[in-house]
Amino acid sequence: LVRARNVHKNYGNHEVLKGIDLDVYPGEVVVILGPSGSGKSTFLRCINHLEEMNQGTIMIGDQQIGYELRRGKLYHLPPKRIARQRRDIGMVFQQFNLYPHMTVLQNIIEAPVGVHGHSRGEAERYAHELLRTVGLSDKADAYPRHLSGGQQQRVAIARALAIRPKLMLFDEPTSALDPELVGEVLSTMRNLAEQGLTMVVVTHEIGFAREAADRVVFMDGGNIIEQGSPDDVLVHPRHARTRAFLSRFI
Ligand code: ATP
Ligand code: MG
Repeated sequence: LVRARNVHKNYGNHEVLKGIDLDVYPGEVVVILGPSGSGKSTFLRCINHLEEMNQGTIMIGDQQIGYELRRGKLYHLPPKRIARQRRDIGMVFQQFNLYPHMTVLQNIIEAPVGVHGHSRGEAERYAHELLRTVGLSDKADAYPRHLSGGQQQRVAIARALAIRPKLMLFDEPTSALDPELVGEVLSTMRNLAEQGLTMVVVTHEIGFAREAADRVVFMDGGNIIEQGSPDDVLVHPRHARTRAFLSRFI
């Protein structure tokens, strides 16, 4: 579903991604680990073209994100076409960024109705279904400020799912939460993983990686240092840098 090849990204002359190759298969849960500044967020943002790469390609299904090949030449897509490509991708950030003046239900149906032109009735029906999935059936009419951080993040997940994405990107979805609220968000994500949703998750939650990941990817200094099953990478890491990183969590 995702095929990233030789992805390079610089900020000025600071090389943040130094040639990332990564495949994500349909239904797979890939967890990306790595120290602060290793380029994890930058890579996620390249996947949905929030950042433009300096070199390399990212394919989502049969589409090259941000570009179009016509008569053997590569063209930049206009913003409207990029927005269309992004329809297949949901993203959840560390900060939930719900619209404060809208209820939970309004937050969830905003994109499907406002951007994708779904009917309000159908969007609301699906929003209620998603609220059940994230365990918040009774909060449809609440405003975000009346919810806990964990509940707000679960609404943000429901909102991202409302466009029926083929791929979900999570960037440290639990890092802004109080420790006692982390579990409810991770368990929601684990449910989604079990339902077969394709997910790329940047997180420092090693326990989640161990239980939910099909593959763990360790990044450092703009490179993928190693990847493999959770057991390979977390229990039997081959590289000193992976071991040094993991030793902080024990
Ligand atoms: P963290 O775990 O702290 O979130 P990360 O692995 O997500 O780290 P990135 O946010 O991808 O790291 O950042 C990688 C590097 O790129 C960092 O050195 C950062 O300072 C730099 N960087 C990120 N965004 C920008 C930007 N918009 N302009 C300039 N430099 C940036
Ligand atoms: Mg980050």
